[in-house]
Amino acid sequence: MDFRLSEEQEAFLDSVRAFAREHVEPGVLERDRAGTWDWDVWKQVAGFGLAGLPVPEEYGGSGADVLTTGLALEGLAYGGRDAGLNLSLGAHLTIGAMPIALHGTEEQKQRWLPRLAAGETVGAFAITEPEAGPDTAGMKTRAERHGDTYVLNGTKTFITNGSLAEVVTVIARTDPDAPAGQAFTAFLVETGTPGFEVSKELRKLGNRTSPTVELSLTDVEVHESQILGDVGTALWRIGFECFDWERCVMVASAIGSMQRDLEESVRYAQEREAFGKPIGRFGAIQHKVAQMRLRLEIARLLQRQAAWMKDEGIEHSTEAAMAKAYIGEAGVESALDAIQLHGGWGYVDEFHVERSLRDAKLAGIGGGSTEIQEMIIARTLLG
Ligand SMILES: Cc1cc2nc3c(=O)[nH]c(=O)nc-3n(C[C@H](O)[C@H](O)[C@H](O)COP(=O)(O)OP(=O)(O)OC[C@H]3O[C@@H](n4cnc5c(N)ncnc54)[C@H](O)[C@@H]3O)c2cc1C
Repeated sequence: MDFRLSEEQEAFLDSVRAFAREHVEPGVLERDRAGTWDWDVWKQVAGFGLAGLPVPEEYGGSGADVLTTGLALEGLAYGGRDAGLNLSLGAHLTIGAMPIALHGTEEQKQRWLPRLAAGETVGAFAITEPEAGPDTAGMKTRAERHGDTYVLNGTKTFITNGSLAEVVTVIARTDPDAPAGQAFTAFLVETGTPGFEVSKELRKLGNRTSPTVELSLTDVEVHESQILGDVGTALWRIGFECFDWERCVMVASAIGSMQRDLEESVRYAQEREAFGKPIGRFGAIQHKVAQMRLRLEIARLLQRQAAWMKDEGIEHSTEAAMAKAYIGEAGVESALDAIQLHGGWGYVDEFHVERSLRDAKLAGIGGGSTEIQEMIIARTLLG
């Protein structure tokens, strides 16, 4: 058994880290303070080839595997320290572009994938509703058939990139009476369609450089050619698959942040003196960096195991849930340690670690909360 990355994978990770330090990290503090999305940074990311990573080559992507896509997010988070950008890119790739790549008709793929892969538009996926988060079967958004069109009505909330996208995959109920596995259908809704509206911009604790919005759909007419996948099967076949991508891949962003914070903390512990010696000589500080290292290692092993299993086509729902459950909590613990180790400077935004804490909290909430992951893990044990 060899847990190491190949030379090619290591080189790729290093190149993303270096790119992000040069092109993403500058200005991140100001972007976070302003809470703004930055198209120029996005264009640099796309220009570096990250916007189409897992998209098949024939549609303008790189055809990268799941593990490599995770490495890109890890490297970007490490070098760029812009968790919001990571959130937007992760959503763009895994729940924006991939559902189209995996379930789209040839026409849908030709229409959207080259533009998504080039970063000319940003992908988005809308399943969550004000009254239906992980309880997805409770979704109320309706799509009623009228001839060869469907009319959509409802509200989606917490939608990453919803204000940037030209097309959003919207999950809606097409059969009011059918069980959940046959009741929901995915639609590729163009955001310029009459009745489609960004009804609210949400201000957040962290990940502030990524837009999160509420979308309202009022009598939005969508042609049946805009159905993604099969009628009725979207919850199982597309929704749950998206959650799987989030668990296996998007959590890699947190690993990059954990590593960067650890390295910054070690440097600070070696330089900062108290009582006549570097604080790194105190046992209490050594305990913190040791715990941060330990969490980083466990997080990385869990995420790469889940990504590798997904690449190999091995059933991995428990492993993916373990990765997400662990990283969601460990990221927060490590950010807290980094703040404590930095003392007063840890509480001030210019030292960046306070942002890590605000950003890290999302991994235990979005894409299925820690409690939901624990439920998945427990089910395999208790039935
Ligand atoms: C920044 C951000 C970006 C997001 N991006 C997207 C996106 O792009 N697209 C999208 O569709 N959604 C997105 N989401 C939504 C996200 O996936 C949901 O917020 C998440 O699934 C939790 O749903 P909820 O907020 O409705 O929580 P609720 O379901 O209201 O949960 C509240 C609490 O109850 C707990 N709970 C719920 N059910 C159970 C249970 N059975 N057992 C134990 N505890 C339980 C939860 O863990 C949580 O602690 C995003 C959210 C955020 C914050």
